[in-house]
Amino acid sequence: MKAAKYKRIMLKLSGEALAGEKGYGIDFDIANKISKDIKELVDSGIQVGAVVGGGNIWRGRNGQGMDRTTADYMGMLATCINALALQDCLENMGVNTRVQTAIEMREVAEPFIRRRAMRHLEKGRVVIFAAGTGNPYFSTDTTAALRAAEIEAEAILLAKKVDGVYDKDPHKYEDAKKYDELKYIDVLDKGLQVMDSTATSLCMDNNIPIIVFGLDCPENIKKVVLGEKIGTIISK
Ligand code: UDP
Repeated sequence: MKAAKYKRIMLKLSGEALAGEKGYGIDFDIANKISKDIKELVDSGIQVGAVVGGGNIWRGRNGQGMDRTTADYMGMLATCINALALQDCLENMGVNTRVQTAIEMREVAEPFIRRRAMRHLEKGRVVIFAAGTGNPYFSTDTTAALRAAEIEAEAILLAKKVDGVYDKDPHKYEDAKKYDELKYIDVLDKGLQVMDSTATSLCMDNNIPIIVFGLDCPENIKKVVLGEKIGTIISK
């Protein structure tokens, strides 16, 4: 692999990305493809942290009539299911991993301990951060921003079903325009559907670039790490 632009990255995989065309649950063809790309990065010395979403199983806002906090805890548990699935795929390929959860479940995974996470990364283990931030009313995008700041990741790679950020929904409007670059403040001002505002502000305050790209082409994660201009880059 050519010289990489980033040495330590935070990969954010939405639940939707893991579900593929099925829209629900885990598509293991996709999970394996993503794992293969992650393996290539790890083999070339890139340190990879990953945050997985849960929307393919449950989102707090789906719980109509439910207590919001309970519904959010269900969402956090959903991220743990996805984290274990990704861990299994990676380990099957010979990649060493650790799942760290923000909600203690010690029979299943390690608790989140920042120093330990850093050590795992230095040893070439992929650290998968599960159970979000451990708090209701937050998202896994915010988790990615928070953990990226904590582990000193150089960038957040936001893998989506669409290949970047558009001014309007590209599925609905043929004339939707893709942005190559954006400033954090524009994402917030224009209300662009990239990350929620809490996550975007956290990245802005800590100056963590976000690269939004599509998972349609399996090579994309590698291309981003090599600094190829694909998708949309959001910075100050
Ligand atoms: N969630 C939460 N706190 C967090 C992270 C996640 O309460 O810190 C819950 C929330 O209900 C959310 C669900 O977990 O809807 C799944 O996460 P998210 O919607 O971010 O997943 P994605 O859209 O990335 O699949």
